[in-house]
Amino acid sequence: MASSVRTTNAMDAFWMPFTANRRFLKDPRIVKAAKDMHYTTADGRKLLDGTAGLWCVNAGHGRPRIVEAVSTAVAELDYAPSYQFGHPTAFELAGRIASMFPGDLNHVFFTNSGSESVDTALKIALAYHQSRGEGTRTRLIGRERAYHGVGFGGISVGGIATNRRHFGSLLAGVDHLPHTHAPEHNAFSRGQPAWGAHLADDLERLVTLHDASTIAAVIVEPLAGSAGVLPPPKGYLERLRAICDKHGILLIFDEVITAFGRLGAASAAELLGVQPDLVATAKGLTNGTIPMGAVLVDAAIYKSITEAAKTPIEFFHGYTYSGHPVAVAAALATLDTYAEEGLFQRAAELAPYFEDATHALRDLPNVIDIRSMGMVTGIELSPRPGAPSERGFEAMQMAFERGAMIRVTGDTIALSPPFIISKDQIDELFALVAGVIRDLK
Ligand code: PLP
Repeated sequence: MASSVRTTNAMDAFWMPFTANRRFLKDPRIVKAAKDMHYTTADGRKLLDGTAGLWCVNAGHGRPRIVEAVSTAVAELDYAPSYQFGHPTAFELAGRIASMFPGDLNHVFFTNSGSESVDTALKIALAYHQSRGEGTRTRLIGRERAYHGVGFGGISVGGIATNRRHFGSLLAGVDHLPHTHAPEHNAFSRGQPAWGAHLADDLERLVTLHDASTIAAVIVEPLAGSAGVLPPPKGYLERLRAICDKHGILLIFDEVITAFGRLGAASAAELLGVQPDLVATAKGLTNGTIPMGAVLVDAAIYKSITEAAKTPIEFFHGYTYSGHPVAVAAALATLDTYAEEGLFQRAAELAPYFEDATHALRDLPNVIDIRSMGMVTGIELSPRPGAPSERGFEAMQMAFERGAMIRVTGDTIALSPPFIISKDQIDELFALVAGVIRDLK
């Protein structure tokens, strides 16, 4: 390919992720600063943050404790490897995170993103079965409509066709459960829908088809976020847990969105009383400030892999930036902020108000479903004939012009604001979204 001289400010040098690049360049949406509940756009307008950035800024923007901790950390220990060396705060953070999750999820593997957390959890599941002499268990079961990030493991168990179709045959031996989106039974659900627990029984069908001796793990998002906000039907996760137990299959929760308060508790596992064997987290762990993820691992899994190892290094996996000292500082300060301000409790207390506000939009034009749980809601609009996602895209653009950052997945508006949002700001957000929906063609 011929090279050419570029101007340094050519915007198209940045190939933007999950973005309509050509469209963006014609009409860019640029933010240049953020504080508390607001972004500031390049032209100086305030934007109410209806999405906590990308489901991650749970405590709001520019929080002083986090800013200070990051500044101090980078000056003191800018980098330290976690391979064969350690630094104190990473151990402290691992203990803090483990203490926030239920059961024996006592060990923490650090990553830099949700995608890495998912792929790490899948690899730990495979290594666990091998360590117990059940190396035939290599199959991974995901779910239709699931989003598990963009690594090859994550897109293999993921169930969003557009994220998979360009990338070849993916991981071998993966199968999928049916998704739980059933508007004919569950439209306009508030919290966990009543219908759908039986969809978990499909796992029995997959066990019959593949035999339990070939299945390593099932991975699900307790609440599917990126595919349009799908709360779990009542009893569904419990049933998955029971079937996994019956057949010696590990259950992995992808809590990249739900962990750290989104549903009004530290985790969906705690809130719903269902105990997973592994949990993938990221996002809210550092309030979005510095990339970091963490995989919670059950004590029995950690013990089995470390004790069965025939080599001094027990698990050949890791990232240059696993336990990065600056990310650790951001995470510790974030967890302090959540605790000091009681933000998970605040999310739980605000949720009914937030849910009332979202369900008040049900009679607006083109609204075909609204699903909510905790501080997250999906408002689904009917697609324009022959142009799916267009209505959603225009909603996002109009909201940006009118003063709010909202997220859309297809034609579903997904709102998940920081937990510091006030009731007045909830009213403002939904009034703005209602106006957008009314004015959309
Ligand atoms: N898993 C879930 C449930 C997610 O929602 C996301 C991101 O939205 C990911 C994994 C991937 O996280 P990341 O973009 O940090 O790789």
